[in-house]
Parts: sequence; structure tokens; C-alpha cells
Amino acid sequence: MVIQSPYPDLKIPEQDILTYLFASEDSLPESPLWINAASPDTYLSLHSGLQWIKRLALGLDHLGVEKGNVLMIVSPNHIFVPVAYLGAVGSGRIFSGANPLYTADELSFQIRNTGARVLLVHPTLLDTARKASKAAGLSKDSLYLFSDAEHKPMDGIQDWRSMLGSPRDASRYNWPRLSSSESKKQIATVNYSSGTTGLPKGVMITHYNLIANAEQTIFLKNVEKPEFKRTGKYPAVDERWINFLPLYHAYGQLNTMLMAAKLNIPVYIMSTFVFEEMLQVVQTHKITELQVAPPILVLMSKHPKTANYDLSSVAKIFSGAAPLSQSLQNECTQRFKTSIGQGWGMTEVTCAGLIAPAGSGDNIGSVGTLLPNCEIKLIDENGKEVGMGERGEIYIKGPNVSSGYWKNENATRETMLEGGWLRTGDVAVNDERGWFYIVDRLKELIKVSGLQVAPAELEAVLLTHPAVADAGVVGVQDSFDAQEHPRAYVLLKSKGAASSEEIQEWIKSKVAKHKYLTGGVVFVDEVPKSAAGKIQRKIMREWAKKDGQQG
Ligand code: AMP
Repeated sequence: MVIQSPYPDLKIPEQDILTYLFASEDSLPESPLWINAASPDTYLSLHSGLQWIKRLALGLDHLGVEKGNVLMIVSPNHIFVPVAYLGAVGSGRIFSGANPLYTADELSFQIRNTGARVLLVHPTLLDTARKASKAAGLSKDSLYLFSDAEHKPMDGIQDWRSMLGSPRDASRYNWPRLSSSESKKQIATVNYSSGTTGLPKGVMITHYNLIANAEQTIFLKNVEKPEFKRTGKYPAVDERWINFLPLYHAYGQLNTMLMAAKLNIPVYIMSTFVFEEMLQVVQTHKITELQVAPPILVLMSKHPKTANYDLSSVAKIFSGAAPLSQSLQNECTQRFKTSIGQGWGMTEVTCAGLIAPAGSGDNIGSVGTLLPNCEIKLIDENGKEVGMGERGEIYIKGPNVSSGYWKNENATRETMLEGGWLRTGDVAVNDERGWFYIVDRLKELIKVSGLQVAPAELEAVLLTHPAVADAGVVGVQDSFDAQEHPRAYVLLKSKGAASSEEIQEWIKSKVAKHKYLTGGVVFVDEVPKSAAGKIQRKIMREWAKKDGQQG
């Protein structure tokens, strides 16, 4: 049974992202939009933001960066990240963001895989970026310092401002307008995801995908509002947001760079998530909505410091990126006297696919309903479509669904199936109202703090350790807060050849912090494999369940 969205189809504008966001170019508001949370007098408005976007577009033209080339950023969040994103995408280039905590090896993989032509690097990350770009064969001339303050050249590397077009030229710049077919073809962003199996892969997202997902999400934000029900029009917004989600990930990108710009909602951008600073910003600026991943709700509900702050301005909390337990949802709803809506999404659907509509009394552990213009089939292990109330893997189709992985036809073929269906690796059931509940994950992916950990990547790193003969990685779930922890089952070349501490240290020297083996290292006599040599994670998951969380 194909399940349709309960909502009528929206008419999705088939255009380029800048036309979508800055249509009324001559009368753009000058009120703060992207605000430095640490220094709120520093901000960009839609008006000034577009000037910077155009200056970057011109700068890339001058550098000879071709259309379709990738601009990558290696930076914590700051108010110019949206400029880099929209300047690259809006001028026909492609944006890709790297996790600023990446090691040189991880970063080098993404530089090589994207074929990045320009790297905007935060000065604090220059060393890592230099090593990574050297290993990837990217010339030093392609690197620019990138932060919210102007920097003197470091080690011969210039500030990104040095290559921008002048404000005067920017005022005459016309970005390339896309026809409707071009907007569906032209790649805008390449974010990384391991999909249903294997190593991280670039997910190709078009201008049309971005616009569709912004429109779908804005619709869900309004659909329960009485004024919308009465007039069919979205009411004016009076909201203030805070952003601590990473802007290299789809979740931060959709909210802060697209929806906030489309609705002109001021966003206080934090460079990184620091719990108490977050509470302080919420209190001081009377933030009205939080977009979080579940670990932040865990902190908000358990941390004694929460009680020291007035968070009463928060009218809505939205949780996504990983499973939210119903008990945590209940606890936070009661404590913060606000609705906690949940959504399900993945990088391959641009960002969001299922959302509990704002204000719908959504405190039931559900990820809500299908966005407009989308369809879902739930498929059981025999490949049969299941009916209401039965468990099945989500196959989803819609204008926000990616058409493929970057330079990876095999992975594309396995995941983006005939007829436009995306195989997600997540298992759900739906109820008579058309609301969905995520009940399991078939794919290998482990989620830590809402971020992806690909077991295949950790296994490859473990195999480079001289004492390791074989290794398999799975996630173990903490029964208390439902958080996941990567655990390695390791076969040593000879008994006692390495300690679990040595294995942990090896991992720490090679990968970003969220990939550390916090679920432990367990030595085994054999890593379970099928006859074809495929790691049988199901068996290791069973082991992990039996052993409990500590390895
Ligand atoms: P990403 O591509 O990094 O956004 O990760 C997508 C994956 O995160 C999904 O395929 C799910 O496995 C998981 N995920 C996202 N949102 C939820 C949710 N609300 N409940 C359960 N899992 C989720």
C-alpha cells in the first residue's frame, strides 16, 4: 500500500535558490537575520547578506572557479557560513561543508571525494586543513582564511575577503537564473552520509530539492494554525531562533540558511554548542523555538543548571536527527510547558521527510505525518508492502528526495530505486491517522549526538592497526537515554597483541570525537561473517544487547 501525504500537493517553485529567497531584491529588509550570538551587534540582514553573497559569487568568477565546481568550508558556525553556502550555490557552484572536528585524514577524504576547488578554512583549523589538502593534492592557493573577523595572511594564505568582488560591482551582479528543468538538475550541495551501507558518500541535492523541502517544512509549521485554516494564508511570524546545529549538516542548513532567510526570522548563531551559553542566549534574547537533537533535550532535562535560566519564551521545541524516546518527550513537555515536536529525516531527503505538525498535540513518540508531495511504502523483509500497523522499511518518494550519490553509481543504484523511491534503512509503522513511528534501523549507521558514524569507516581504521586481524563495529544503545555508542568487536592477530586502551587510542588519533568507541572494545575469537564474507552485524547487535552497554 502506498501511503500518500494527508495534505494537498504544494506548488513548488521551480527556480534557483537565490530567486526563491531574494525575489524582492530591491526592497530587502535590513533587520538582523544571521546574528553572532556572542556579539549580537554583529549581524547580517537579508539586504547586507545578499551583498556579501554577490561579492563572493564575483570573487569565485574572478578566480576562474567554474560552474559545478565545489566550494568546501572547514569551519565552526559563524554568520558568514550562510554567505559561503548561498554564494557558492547561488552562483552555480556546489557547497560542501566538513565537520570542523575532522582529523586531517577525514578531511582529506572529503576534499578528494568532492574534488573541492576552493577551501574556506577557519584560522584555528588551518594546520589540519593544510595537511589534508596537501594529502588530497589541493594547491595551497585554493585555501582562504574564513571567519567572522578579517585576518592577516597566515603562512601565505589570504583572508577570503581578499578575493571578493567590490560592493560596487556586487550591486550590478546578476546571479544565474535557472529554468525549471535546470533547477531540478543543477546540484546545489553535497553533504556526506553513509546511506544504508558502507563509507560516507556525497548526497547530491539540487536547487529544486532545497526549495521543495523548505516549502514543505514551512507548510507543516503553519498547517495547524487557526489563521491558516481560516484564510489559507501563512500568518506573519514573530519568532527568534538560536542555531547551534552544525551548518555543514542538512538539519542546520534547512533551518538557519533556508527557512530563516525565507521567513526573515532572526537566528542567533553560536559557533559551537556550549550548554550554559545556549541557555543564556535563550533567556537574554527570548528565543521562541529550539531545533535540537535528542542529546540536547537530555541535557536540558537532567542538567541542574537548566533551572537557573528563564526559558519561558520557548513556545516550541523541535527534535530531529535521531530517535527521541517518548519518556524524554513527555518529561520535557511537562518541564518546559511547551510542545516537543519530532521529525524524521535524512541527508538523502534534503533534510526532513516526516514531521509532527506544530501545535498538533504531538506528545506520543511519533515522527508525525508525511510532508506534502511525498509518498511512502513500508516494505517487509520479504519485499512485500505492509499495511497499517505493520512494521516495514520506509521507502520514500517526493520532490525533496536526492537523485543520487556524488560520483558513486553503485551506491546510487542500490539506494535510489526505480520510480524515484529512496530506500532509507529505517523501519516504521503508521497508524490510522497517517502518523508514523520509527521502530528500528536496518542499516549499519550509528547516530551519536545526531551525527553519523559509519561502522565501515571505523572498521577500516581498526584494520590499519598492526595488531588487528579483523574488526566489526555496531552501535549499543543506552537504556537510560536511548543514546547510541559505537562498540568494536576485535580479533587480534595474536592473543594480548594490543589492549583495549591501545585500540581506543588508535581510533582517537584517526577520527573525530563523535566516532570514538564509547561503547567499548571487546576482543573476540571471530568476527561473524556470512559465507560471502559480509560482516553479520545482526549477530554483533545481539551480543551487544546481551552484554549491556559497557564493553
Ligand atoms: P542524517 O542523514 O545524518 O540526517 O541521518 C539520518 C538518519 O538518522 C535516519 O535515516 C535515521 O536512521 C536517523 N533519524 C533521523 N531522525 C530520526 C528520528 N526522529 N527517529 C529515529 N531516527 C531518526
